[in-house]
Amino acid sequence: MNAPDHEPIASIPELLAHALELEIESRERYRDLAQCMALHNNPDVAALFEQMAGYSELHARSVEVRAQGYNLPVIAPWDFKWNCPEGHESPCLGDAHYLMNRRQALELARHNEIRGREFYARVAIYSPDPEVSALAREMADEEQEHVDLLAQWIARELVAAEAPLEDLDPPHIPE
Ligand code: ZN
Repeated sequence: MNAPDHEPIASIPELLAHALELEIESRERYRDLAQCMALHNNPDVAALFEQMAGYSELHARSVEVRAQGYNLPVIAPWDFKWNCPEGHESPCLGDAHYLMNRRQALELARHNEIRGREFYARVAIYSPDPEVSALAREMADEEQEHVDLLAQWIARELVAAEAPLEDLDPPHIPE
């Protein structure tokens, strides 16, 4: 794990401000991905991404509840924009991501969940304030659950890719 690029996070409001940015960005990206998968006849992956968007929404709301009574600092939101996994061979984010397949979409999500987990884990390690560390540790654990969930889905895709071709995609029957 890399050392933090920034000063360690030393206060609860600072942590909450970052968490809020991170969760809102995740919610938006998951909604995009869900829409994209739904348009491409991947209703199960679309449903998974809707579920993940829901988790991000819940986290954002619970961060807002914790933040009541604090003045959250304004932070640089670009720290929390999703990015593409390294060596990603196809369009990843933005208008082009409708070209992504199921597996690439899941890997994009996992990659960014790992970034979220590492962000919180770094805060937990480097914060000088034990209360900040404890809260960041909780948040890192939640992100780990998301990473695990996506890893399970990716594993399932890999199994499907090895199955005989006729099992891959049931024929699409137009209504
Ligand atoms: Zn997450």
